[in-house]
Order: sequence, then C-alpha cells, then structure tokens
Amino acid sequence: MSHVLVVGAGIVGLAVAARLAARGDEVTVIDKEDGLARHQTGRNSGVIHSGLYYPPGSLKATMAAAGARSMAEYARAKGVAVDICGKLVVATDEAELPGLQKLADRAVANGVPARRVTPAEAREHEPHVRAIAALRVETTGTVDYAGICRALADDVEAAGGRILLGEEIVAARTVPGSPGAPGRVEVRTTRADREADALVVCGGLHADRIARACGLDPEARIVPFRGEYFELTPEAGDLVRGLIYPVPDPRFPFLGVHLTRGVEGHVHAGPNAVLALAREGYTWTDVSPRDLADSLAWPGLWRLAARNLVPGAAEVGRSLSKQAFARSLARLVPGITAADLVPAPAGVRAQALRRDGGLVDDFLVQTTDRQVHVLNAPSPAATASLEIAAHIVERLDATLPA
Ligand SMILES: Cc1cc2nc3c(=O)[nH]c(=O)nc-3n(C[C@H](O)[C@H](O)[C@H](O)COP(=O)(O)OP(=O)(O)OC[C@H]3O[C@@H](n4cnc5c(N)ncnc54)[C@H](O)[C@@H]3O)c2cc1C
Repeated sequence: MSHVLVVGAGIVGLAVAARLAARGDEVTVIDKEDGLARHQTGRNSGVIHSGLYYPPGSLKATMAAAGARSMAEYARAKGVAVDICGKLVVATDEAELPGLQKLADRAVANGVPARRVTPAEAREHEPHVRAIAALRVETTGTVDYAGICRALADDVEAAGGRILLGEEIVAARTVPGSPGAPGRVEVRTTRADREADALVVCGGLHADRIARACGLDPEARIVPFRGEYFELTPEAGDLVRGLIYPVPDPRFPFLGVHLTRGVEGHVHAGPNAVLALAREGYTWTDVSPRDLADSLAWPGLWRLAARNLVPGAAEVGRSLSKQAFARSLARLVPGITAADLVPAPAGVRAQALRRDGGLVDDFLVQTTDRQVHVLNAPSPAATASLEIAAHIVERLDATLPA
C-alpha cells in the first residue's frame, strides 16, 4: 500500500483517487477551491461522447468509446442522472457533405455505432432540425458530471481516503530512495508541508505551471479557450429533443456550437471558443495580466492565431453578438432566434498548445520518478475519466520501485 497525494478534485483527479482508494492505497486529494468540480468539470456540456471524432488508435478514440460505456454504467450504479438519448450530426449545405462522410467513416474505424440518415429520418428524431443529410449516433448521451464527482468523492472517503479543499499545491520534489530509506515526494501547499510515496497532478487549467513547480519541463503550455453558452427559454426548448451538432469545421479544432438537452431538462446552446484573458476567465472582464502575458509570450499562440484568423474572428464576433450566435444555431434549427436565448455560465477549456502552434490533440500524461502529471485532458476527458484513471494508475505504478 502506498500513500498517494492527488492534486485536483475535478473528474479526472477524483476518478484516479477513487481507483487508488478502491485497491487499498492511502489517498489524499487536495484542491485549491472550496468545492468539487469548480472548473472544467462543473462547467461543461454534460455530454457523454461516443468516440466519433478522434483519430483511430488515439487515446481519445479508445478511451471515449470505452468511457461512454463505463460512465453510463457508473452513473446508473450510483443513481446519478444519465440519459443515453443519441445525437444527430447535421449537414446543412453541400459543402459539409464530405465532412459528414468523413465522420461516418471514422465512426466505423472507431467502432462507434452511427448511421447516415435522410433528412426525413433526421426529422423523426428532431422535428425542427434543418438537414440535407445527417448522421445518427446512438451511444451519445448526457450525464450530471457534478453528481459523478460527488459519487467518486464518496467512494474515496468510504475507502478511507481524505479530500481536503481550499488547499493549493505550491511545489513538490521527489527525494530518491537510499539503502534503508524509501524514496518519497515532498509537497509544499498553501496549508502544510506534506509527504507522500507518490504524487498525481490533475490540475486542469494550471497543469503546466504545477508541472514546472514540481521539476518537470512540459513541452506544451496550457492556453485557455472560453466556451460561452446560452440556454433556450422554456418556450423555445421544445424545438430540441436531444443533441444536435453541426459538421465540425475542419479548419478549427473545436466542434462548433451545438444544442444539448441536459439531464436537468434545459437546452444548452454552445459553446463557442474564444481566447480567455485569464486561465479562469469566465467573462471578457476576467483579466489576469500574468495569464495573458504567459499566453501572449508563447510562440505557439501566435502561430495558431495566424492559421485560424478567419474562424477565430468569427468566434469573437459570435461572442460579442447574440444575433450572430443565434444565426449559427438557426443553421441547425431555423426556428431559433436571439429572443430565445438566455445567457448561461461559461466554461474555460484547458488546451495544451505546442511551441509550433500545434494543439496537443490527444490526452497527454508525463511522468517522472514517483510523479504523474496530466498535461492535456480536454474533451472528451469527462466522458473518458474512468478510463483515463486506469491509464494513470498504470503509469503511476511504472514510476514506483517494484
Ligand atoms: C466548455 C466546455 C465544454 C466541455 N464539454 C464536455 C462534454 O460535453 N463532455 C466531455 O466529456 N468533456 C467536455 N469537456 C471537457 C471536460 O470538462 C474536461 O476534459 C474535464 O472536466 C477535465 O477534468 P479535470 O479534472 O482534468 O480538470 P478540472 O475539472 O478543470 O479540474 C482541475 C482541478 O484542479 C484544481 N487545481 C488547479 N490548480 C491547483 C493547484 N495549484 N492546487 C490544487 N488544486 C488545483 C482546480 O481547482 C480544479 O478543481 C468540456 C470542457 C469545457 C471547458
């Protein structure tokens, strides 16, 4: 049995902690916030992704498909709200047809049950949708990720683990073992100096900074991309039954604004993707000079911006104009107008970006002696969190002496 300190009470950290606690390790979780799931995990679309979009063989593809199953099973076992309602990806003009076919091919390669449907069949699922062709995916659904985190935290505590909130990691270092003295990790936090046999960091928006403070040299930086949402008014909510997505723009790394009926019954519209001016920048007025300077000093951001000028400008336009946001949604469901949209809380994606401007596409985990750092866990990491946890525990074991 080892004592493992886990940083981060988002879904990835809690899933790791629950897995370690279940096999008998002594686990302490710390999080700087005073509640669970305060950042990405508590501010996302609540979708259980099917594994449709990701390159075959990638961690995202394999872990999303397996994660869709394990997450739904875990939710049902714990009594957390979940609804595997399926989704439609709709092409609204001829230019999107090759992209839709590419997704259909990817579904086959990734073993995701999806089929091309006619516009009439699409309207049987979603009577108000506009489509010239569509893809129906049955294994997509929605879940209450905050509820999943509470269940994972209960599992940790039931197995004897501790969850300490309001405690921020400042730095850590591995002290190698010597004859008669096993190695350990010394961790400095805002509350205490702690020691553990091993450290796992699932720090989301701060993952790269924490890694550097623990002696690693990550190859990528976290750049924060805010995703803004509206909610449909209750009257307009009837325009959407389940999940309606556009064919993603291949020039742009995110999925495009979509419509999602959450497990609580509200229809969410979004998210867009704009550069956030702080790592926890949930509105345009949240500005952190340090975070902004860090983003702007990273050459990768300028290279990414140069390559994405047109879609990037369109995203900012959509952020500043509710009419523009509504027009994007009306491409999918023509009945939606700006008057149907009520602002809803935003989320910020922790996206790792390389120096050359390439987005780190897959999940990224880096290890050093007795330490594991999750350096990129963007969507669909909530879906895949139970699978990511299994992977992290394997990687952790590989850093410990036999
Ligand atoms: C807008 C948006 C929509 C998304 N939609 C979906 C979706 O529908 N489906 C899906 O599968 N995924 C989705 N995702 C992705 C998903 O939310 C994330 O991949 C997942 O939540 C990552 O979990 P995490 O635990 O790694 O990070 P987080 O939830 O961000 O947790 C990190 C934790 O670390 C803590 N922390 C940070 N620094 C420190 C420190 N120094 N000391 C102590 N604690 C610290 C933070 O307080 C936080 O609690 C979406 C993300 C966003 C932003």
